[in-house]
Formats: sequence, structure tokens, C-alpha cells
Amino acid sequence: MTPGTALSLARPVRDRAARVPAFANGAAGEAPGDSEDEAAGLLAALGGAAVLLGADLGVDLLTEAAARLLGVAAHPTGAGEKLKDLLDRSHLGPAARQALGSLARLDGKGSACLRSGAGAKILARRVALPHRRTALLLTPDRPPPEAPLGQHADPLTGLADRAGFIAAVTARLGQTPAEGGGAFGVLVLDLDRFHVVNDTLGPAIGDQVLIAVAARLRAALRAGDLPARLNGDEFAVLIHAGTGVAELEALARRLMDTLGRPYLPDGQPVSLSLSVGIARAPEDGTAADTLLRRAAIALHAAKAAGRARLAAFTPEMQARSETRRQMETDLRRAFALRQFELHYQPQVELPDNRLFGFEALLRWRHPARGFIPPDQFVPVAEEVGLIAPIGAWVLAAACAEATRWPAPLTVAVNVSGLQFEQGDLLGAVASALDRTGLAPERLEIEITESALLVNPEATLGILHQLRERGVRIAMDDFGTGYSSLTRLQSFPFDRIKIDRSFVSGRRGLAEGRAIVRAIAGLGASLGMRTIAEGVETEEQLASVRAEGCTEVQGYLFGRPAAVCDLPAVIAGFGRRAAQVTEIPV
Ligand code: C2E
Ligand code: MG
Ligand code: MG
Repeated sequence: MTPGTALSLARPVRDRAARVPAFANGAAGEAPGDSEDEAAGLLAALGGAAVLLGADLGVDLLTEAAARLLGVAAHPTGAGEKLKDLLDRSHLGPAARQALGSLARLDGKGSACLRSGAGAKILARRVALPHRRTALLLTPDRPPPEAPLGQHADPLTGLADRAGFIAAVTARLGQTPAEGGGAFGVLVLDLDRFHVVNDTLGPAIGDQVLIAVAARLRAALRAGDLPARLNGDEFAVLIHAGTGVAELEALARRLMDTLGRPYLPDGQPVSLSLSVGIARAPEDGTAADTLLRRAAIALHAAKAAGRARLAAFTPEMQARSETRRQMETDLRRAFALRQFELHYQPQVELPDNRLFGFEALLRWRHPARGFIPPDQFVPVAEEVGLIAPIGAWVLAAACAEATRWPAPLTVAVNVSGLQFEQGDLLGAVASALDRTGLAPERLEIEITESALLVNPEATLGILHQLRERGVRIAMDDFGTGYSSLTRLQSFPFDRIKIDRSFVSGRRGLAEGRAIVRAIAGLGASLGMRTIAEGVETEEQLASVRAEGCTEVQGYLFGRPAAVCDLPAVIAGFGRRAAQVTEIPV
């Protein structure tokens, strides 16, 4: 560190860089040397907020950081100004002024803890210098209050905006330890599903909620921590102290609790949860945008784990996020280049093993990686907003393909829960049917339990409209979600697809059988067909049949096949139907 550049002094210091290290390495009070320049060099080497006093307690030097802390103008002190006069024009209260005065008059080393006028804590240390001179080193417990935000205030909430936040983080990164620098935390907070508030209650109510969120955020933070609104429903906080992972997580949890309590805009209760991502300086980054990005990556991980969660950044998250970004780019290109295709898996009716239709299963023919299964890319497509256009393409392609099959063979199409929210699913279905001329009864939409949980009322409304059009509806992967069997009563599904984990014995043979039996029984009493997924062996076929399933799908009857193979598959069923042997259970 070089005097004069490391910090600017209110009074110029001559460059004595060569002699500074000797001082800086020794205990300050025992420092050799006697010139004023050496003492000034010492202060500069220590950096930060300091007042250098002569033998008569006259102020010889006042650093800019000290001037800021004491709330005095940073212009040079008048020659010979007494400490008492300096303190009198500071914003310290009487008790703090007295404590600092007494500290200065002490013999030897000492320290005192004061409160500045703005309420911030200041630790003052006295260091004895040669020739009865004294240095008072001031360390803020947190940095001095933020300057007014000015043009960096978010007009809606009055918090800092993104630019203001980045400027504050950058400034904080530039502070030395003596100025209150060092480790700090950045939290990024996102209100879960806030758009639903805007969509259902209107943007004016949405704004009221955001203002209330900002007020709660401000009230929940300690003085010196800086809250900001980055955009929309995304907030951030710069945390000055208590920056261990555990402490930041505890703080995040507290914020989730406070901000997650119901709001009452215009007297209407609105409940929101929030997710939080945490990054720490300097571990996670030494530039403001890196820290913000990493906190956002952690936020993303928290949301992916199921909202209303928090996560602290880890390098693995970075790697995952990069893979995902790459996947996103590839997916967009794949969609443009038509690298998607559908394979079709036979669905068979019991007891006579008659083919009644196919399920369309999406495949991505990647030029380098070969076929990529949907489990690996559908979640990314959902995240990046590509699932609606991809889903619309799937519907159109499946309906077009089904018109080439002998009637009344049906085609089942999987739709993501997000297509109910983001895309115009009704429009996509209508256009697929209209353009291909496929009879609506030959199209079945498969929806998973978890998709039904997201926004049940809106989703059920759309399902009812699809039904009115004549389209069939199946509940996919039944038994794996959170919903109970009573969920089935909320909608008259045509078909329940029993998840293959119950069929394969992965969940225990006896338990699997019992569940298959329960679901098949329920389906029978509700007038719904039950299809067992993932039937691979004759034993499994015999078992699900004995438990009452009306239909099966699985490798035993056929793997998902490319379009060009379907005529042979269909013909094979015609020949084979009567030949499949039945094993007694
Ligand atoms: P799903 O709808 O439950 O589809 C059945 C999955 O089980 C398919 O996997 C199928 O290949 C596999 N499968 C069928 N029979 C057997 C069997 O006997 N043994 C085993 N081990 N597996 C069997 P796939 O094609 O990888 O699809 C996985 C999931 O991806 C699907 O599960 C569905 O949820 C989703 N998906 C597929 N296509 C689409 C689509 O077009 N749109 C959307 N949103 N999701 C899709
Ligand atoms: Mg399915
Ligand atoms: Mg399934």
C-alpha cells in the first residue's frame, strides 16, 4: 500500500513509502522514528479512518474516511484546531464526544465504543506515537449511512434500483477492512408466482403488494444493510455484517417468514412465498455483477428445488447453470432446425390385448449426442419458455400422424402444466384438430398430478373446455404426486395411468400390487379406465390384470417406435392379438 494512493488524506502527505513498512510491521505504539511524516505514513499504511493528534491534542491530520464517520466536512482542518472543537462540529452526541476526548487523553493504548449521530457503532482505538503524539483509529461497525439514492431510487418502492445496488456493492468491494470492508453477503429474493397476483387482481394491486414488500424488507434489516428492487418482483439486499453462511441463511429464513406473511392490499388477503439465493464476497466473487449473478444462480437452484426455499451459491451450481445455458441455446436451435420428433408407444386393451392407440413421446435428435430423452430437456424447455411452442408442435404433429392410422386408433399427447399457464393450450388443440381433421375423440391429453396442483382451478377450467370439444383426458403417472385419491373426484378423467414404479416392483412387490389394486378399484367405481404403465414381463401383465387394470402399456407390447415403423407395428398387432398367452396368477 502506498501512502497518498491507498486513501486520500485531508491534508497532503509527502510520499514516504520506503519507510512505511517498518512502521506497519511493528506494533504501532512502539514504532521507531519521530518525524511527522513517519506518523502520517503510518496512518496511511494503516488505511482508513484516523485522526492524528499533536502533543497538545491539536488535530494534525484527519483522513477523509474519519471525516465521513464523524460527519464533518472533509476539507482540511484549520491549523491547530483542537480535538474538542473538531468533535463539537461532528455529529457525535455528547457522550460519544466525551468518550473520544477521554480516550485521546489516555496514556498508552486504549479503546472505546461510540455511537455516531446516525446511530452506527464506531470502535475507536488510541495508538500512542512518539513525541507524545496520538492517533485515534476509528472503525465503523458498519459503513457510514448510504448517500441518498438520487437517480438510483426505484420509483415504485423508493429502494435502490439495480444500478444503485450494483454501485453500492462495487463501492463496498472497494472498501478496506478499516473502512468497514471485508466479507459481506448479497441476497437475491424473488416472490414466488407473483405474476398470478398481477394477472388475477390487476397491476395496481400488484404494485401495492410490491410497496408493502419493500416496507417490510426495510423494516426487517439492520441499519447499514441495503435493500434494493432489481426489477419486477425481484429484490436484493447487501448484508454488511454477520456474513457466515449459517448467519446469512438464518437472516434469509427470517426474511422469508416476515415477507411471506399475508398482505392486505385494498383489504384483499394475498399470500406469497419467496425464494432466496445467497452469495458471499469475497468467496463467490470480487465484482458486483459476478456476485449478483451467482446469487441469482443460487436463487434459481432454490426455485428449482420447489420454491419457498433458500440456497447459498456453490461452484456445482455454476457448472449446472452453464450446462443448462448451453442446453437452452441448443434447444432453441433444435426447435428452429426441427430436430424434434415423436415416437409412438402402443397402448393395449385387456383382456384380449387389442391395440387401441399410441402415446406420442417426444425425442430430441441431437446431432452430436444422439436421441435425448424428454426427462432431460422438457424441464429446461419449461424454464426458458419454450414448452408452449414445442407443445403446440407436438400436438400438431401427433394429430397429423394419427390421421394416417386406421380409425378408431387414438393418440395420447403429454402436456406440461406450464402449457396451461403460458401457452394457449385450447387454441393449440383446436388448431391441431382443425388443420388435420382428426376426430376429437381420437385425441387424448395426458396431464400429470403435479401439473394439476399448480393452479387447479384454471387448469380444471381448461380441461372442462377440452372435454366439451370431445377430447379425452388422462391423468398420467398417478400415485407419484402429492395429491390423494380424492383428487380424482375433482375431474371426470377418462383414464388413469398407473405409474410404472408400482408395476415394476420398485416400490416393493406387495405394496405395488396393493396400490395397483386400490387405483384400479377406484377407477372402476368412478367409471374411469385404468392403464398400467411400464409392463415389461408376462408376470407383470398377469399381475396388473388380476388387480383389475383394464389396459396396459409397456415394453412387453412394444417400445416407443419411429413413425416409419408404425405400419408394421399396427399390422403385427392385428396378427398377434389372439396369440399372447395368458399366465394364470
Ligand atoms: P410418461 O408420459 O409417463 O411416458 C412414459 C415413459 O415411460 C416414456 O419415457 C416411455 O418410453 C417409458 N416406458 C414405457 N414403457 C416402458 C417400460 O416398459 N419400461 C420402462 N422402463 N419404461 C417404459 P420417455 O419417452 O422417456 O418419456 C418420459 C416422460 O417425458 C414422459 O413420461 C412424459 O412425462 C414426458 N414427455 C414425453 N413426451 C412429452 C411431450 O411431448 N411433452 C411433454 N410435456 N412431456 C413429454
Ligand atoms: Mg404420458
Ligand atoms: Mg406416465
